Amino acid sequence: MLTIAAIDRLRTRQERPAPKIGRMLQQRTLKSISRAVGVGLHSGQRVELTLRPAPADTGIVFRRVDLPEPVDIPMNAEAVTDTRLASTVSNGGAKVQTVEHIMSACAGIGIDNLYIDITADEVPILDGSAASFVFLLQSAGVELQKAPRRFIEVLAPVEVREGEGANEKWARLDPYHGFRLSFEIDFDHKVVNSTGQRFEFDLGSGQYNRDIARARTFGFTKEVEYMRSKGLALGGGLDNAIVMDDTKVLNAGGLRYDDEFVKHKILDAMGDLYIVGKPLLAAYSAFRSGHALNNKLLRALLAQPEAYRVVTFDDERAAPRGFAEVARAW
Ligand SMILES: [Zn+2]
Repeated sequence: MLTIAAIDRLRTRQERPAPKIGRMLQQRTLKSISRAVGVGLHSGQRVELTLRPAPADTGIVFRRVDLPEPVDIPMNAEAVTDTRLASTVSNGGAKVQTVEHIMSACAGIGIDNLYIDITADEVPILDGSAASFVFLLQSAGVELQKAPRRFIEVLAPVEVREGEGANEKWARLDPYHGFRLSFEIDFDHKVVNSTGQRFEFDLGSGQYNRDIARARTFGFTKEVEYMRSKGLALGGGLDNAIVMDDTKVLNAGGLRYDDEFVKHKILDAMGDLYIVGKPLLAAYSAFRSGHALNNKLLRALLAQPEAYRVVTFDDERAAPRGFAEVARAW
């Protein structure tokens, strides 16, 4: 039998509106498998890529399936072993070159866990941008997982610098509730000079696919000739890079964006920074940075434990603008 007090308690409980509990911001992987075949930009080698779902807290892992024993290369700042021309990651003697564009697509779409099976030591260049990787990831579909998405929240400014005068370059991270990148390039070239050399992109805008992913890598004919003589850029050409001579763009279709050059540098920076293993909550700004300095910045951050912490969002409404949505297709 219920006492009056118990009935009162029951009534209060029934009358109180059900509390609105936000959903946890969850990790993401793919719903199904996606495959691509292409050539490596530098090696010119044919390579097959298979993107597979991975369990929560796996991170992004390249798997060299062409070796006698498959070797996993998990993403973390220390995995980067070479930054000349592209970002190369290694585990022991096994390496994968040119990981930045597919890593950028994973950062842009917000994929936390993924196996990338690869049959050679270089990611295929495809069209020279991240657009094909975005298409592959979105074709497979995005699956939410039963684990909180973990972010690295930057708590204090971290900066790295190199060179002086005309050779000066720097990159820095500042605290920011979200992920914003501003980049400035400084190319003394007729074509690049005539385009915007500075751009700022906020991932919270939800416009990665539209504004950044399609920007292609670029090069100059003089450099390409030199690189070929060194056995590099063997897979490069007008269908996977913007190529310029001294005065003009040689690609028949011209540029995809008026400021495609600086946008590609933002694309690269997103990929380079995502190698840290978790999405950053920070404002990144850079002047003439590249793969080497971007990795140096990650290592400088990790060397200062008081400059960051790992955070999750039990209620996705507390997450930065745009982070709870699954990125839309074009
Ligand atoms: Zn690039």
